[in-house]
Amino acid sequence: MPQILDGNRIRDQIKAECHPRVERLLTRAGRPPGLAVVLVGDNPASQVYVRGKTKTAAELGIYNETITPPADISTDDLCRLIRSLNARPEIDGILVQLPLPKQIDEQKVLLEVAPEKDADGFHPYNAGLLATGQPGLRPCTPAGVIEMLKRYDIPIAGRNAVVVGRSNIVGKPMAMLLLMENATVTICHSRTVDLPAMCRTADILVAAIGRTAMITAGYIKPGAVVVDVGMNTVTTRTEAERVFEPSRLEAFDKRGSLLVGDVRPGDMARLASAYTPVPGGVGPLTIAMLMRNTIEAAERRTASC
Ligand code: NAP
Repeated sequence: MPQILDGNRIRDQIKAECHPRVERLLTRAGRPPGLAVVLVGDNPASQVYVRGKTKTAAELGIYNETITPPADISTDDLCRLIRSLNARPEIDGILVQLPLPKQIDEQKVLLEVAPEKDADGFHPYNAGLLATGQPGLRPCTPAGVIEMLKRYDIPIAGRNAVVVGRSNIVGKPMAMLLLMENATVTICHSRTVDLPAMCRTADILVAAIGRTAMITAGYIKPGAVVVDVGMNTVTTRTEAERVFEPSRLEAFDKRGSLLVGDVRPGDMARLASAYTPVPGGVGPLTIAMLMRNTIEAAERRTASC
């Protein structure tokens, strides 16, 4: 039987470790860590994500506020808003919820976040620290994956790791973090030739593609550890029949849609020695790591108090 890597369990561990750190900050600095979330416009999915983040922050005693500029805000005005958050001493972490509306220059906005308050770890300064192996705020989802592998005692050093996806928020930092743990890392993307063969070289296969159950049996080396970062929704019966084992079709019929990752669940369960399920694998870790980043930023900023 493969080992199921339970993201909810690891999330709870990480959150439990946050409590005493928040307490220590309160004692030492006289204030809790502070997180500002900037949610532009009224994208319903973003609103759900932000609610999850602020709810967890409140649970952990992290001061948090959500700023909701209108969807038609200009890049300059958004940059001004970020600068005002940079200047506020009680705010340790700033998160700009992505995606931003089309008229906004996303890179310009992300550059404006002070690197020491960059709770998402997306600022090029923090990306540079990661690339050069120095301590810094790391992107939450890939950092969560590393936490998960370590806490399940899955060896990384010397293993062949293949990351499918090269986005700045998941694929690239994932590859860097695996490299820091001494894996031999290959990054694949949409122009990779013979992707299945590349993936079959992986002892640790990370899928961060955003394509419903694209990774199937022919991509997975038997005994590999498979980390499925993808989050996709299956909404048609035909797709459900392609993606899920017959035993899950009843659940699909009842709900009309089901969440699935980038890996076909039945193939992963059959071939992997360990894997992250969707839902309940990588997903829960992202928010927990965001809280940890906010606390880490506060600890650094108040170190001299
Ligand atoms: P993204 O920015 O769209 O990047 C997708 C990557 O996959 C790109 O590098 C792309 O290659 C590659 N790709 C696309 N089609 C491919 C193909 N047919 N063969 C090989 N590579 C292909 O997506 P992302 O933001 O990294 O997110 C990836 C997935 O993770 C999404 O499902 C997202 O919802 C999920 N996600 C989950 C969490 C979580 O908390 N669990 C957090 C973030 C993201 P090119 O660069 O060549 O285009």
